[in-house]
Amino acid sequence: MSKIDPSKYALDTLAVRAGQSRTNEAENSEPIFLTSSFVYQNAAEAAARFAGDVPGNIYSRFTNPTVHTFEERLAAMEGGERCIATSSGMSAILTTCMALLRGGDHIVSSLNVFGTTVGLFNNVLAKFNLNTTFVSLTDYAAWANAITPATKLLFLETPSNPLTEVADIQRLADLAHQHGCLLVVDNCFCTPALQLPFKFGADIVIHSATKYLDGQGRCVGGAVIGSEALLGEEVFGFLRTAGPSMSPFNAWVFLKGLETLKIRMQAHCDNAMKMAEWLQSQDKIARVYYPGLKNHPQYELARKQQSGAGGIVSFEVQGGREAAWKVIDATRIYSITANLGDTKSTLTHPATTTHHKLTAEERLQTGISDGLIRISVGLEDINDLIEDMDQALASV
Ligand SMILES: *Cc1c(COP(=O)(O)O)cnc(C)c1O
Repeated sequence: MSKIDPSKYALDTLAVRAGQSRTNEAENSEPIFLTSSFVYQNAAEAAARFAGDVPGNIYSRFTNPTVHTFEERLAAMEGGERCIATSSGMSAILTTCMALLRGGDHIVSSLNVFGTTVGLFNNVLAKFNLNTTFVSLTDYAAWANAITPATKLLFLETPSNPLTEVADIQRLADLAHQHGCLLVVDNCFCTPALQLPFKFGADIVIHSATKYLDGQGRCVGGAVIGSEALLGEEVFGFLRTAGPSMSPFNAWVFLKGLETLKIRMQAHCDNAMKMAEWLQSQDKIARVYYPGLKNHPQYELARKQQSGAGGIVSFEVQGGREAAWKVIDATRIYSITANLGDTKSTLTHPATTTHHKLTAEERLQTGISDGLIRISVGLEDINDLIEDMDQALASV
């Protein structure tokens, strides 16, 4: 079977079909190629493959059929030409920076990004003279002011974690391009089911496949998506040489995840909306953060840029850390874990977990109060989730 032409089909079809080419065994579902290397008919064929004269697999550090099917499918869904799968979301960001930047280059990043991303920029890349300036996600003047002649890359997540702030991708893409920079968007929270950053001018999309792409909290993986021109030589070359590669087994799990991504994301959005509305009606809750609520500061922008508000809801309990911990501990069905994007609803206390490395002042600056709780709303029955939260709130 030959592969389908991605330009001819809608997202739902691509999610199920893109990138698949059947073997002679005529299997319906995608096989897992658990093999580290590939063999040749003869020495001449081996030489031709190594010289790049003939296409074909050599070694699974850089090409593997199962991983490749995942790459083609995710690229098709995001509307990008090329995808490079990586061993984790963090290695996707590392690969992008190591491949496309060199010592002396400068990054401007939103401060409201995944905590480990801040650590990667500050503690790892800085050792190689790649320095980062952090700005508030929605302060567009600060983005413009932070750009220097050395700036090569602007980096953001939208909606942000855990406060669900929404950035105008088109506006930041225009700013990046005025200065000859690349705009990199970590599309983890929305996934291509809800947001397509390339439509708004992004140059590179990053994924932690660990989250919604898997969707059931099983495997760690990541991806970089972009044009062939950007990814083909440098990014693929880095992967091939440095080796932060995705395992074929994980790629197969993510492939199965992509097939149900859109219906899962819709169900996450429906549950999250009901949860946000219910939380907002509770006396003990000072504030709810969810882009689907009309009082969210970027409600209109989120409606324009996203086809759903997502599965992450954060809220502030009155009574600070003590009250927040009490609520978390009193729940019965939520998982207390920092992971997100799972069928299982999870609860996180950002101030003492994902954001504990920030100083109290930095937390204040980024709006992460001691009473803040983040819910990654899963796919359990929403009435059960609300009832459980109701009895947990009664404990404070
Ligand atoms: C989890 C996460 C990452 C890192 O991904 P890993 O797969 O854990 O390495 C990057 N960005 C965001 C937004 C995340 O939530």
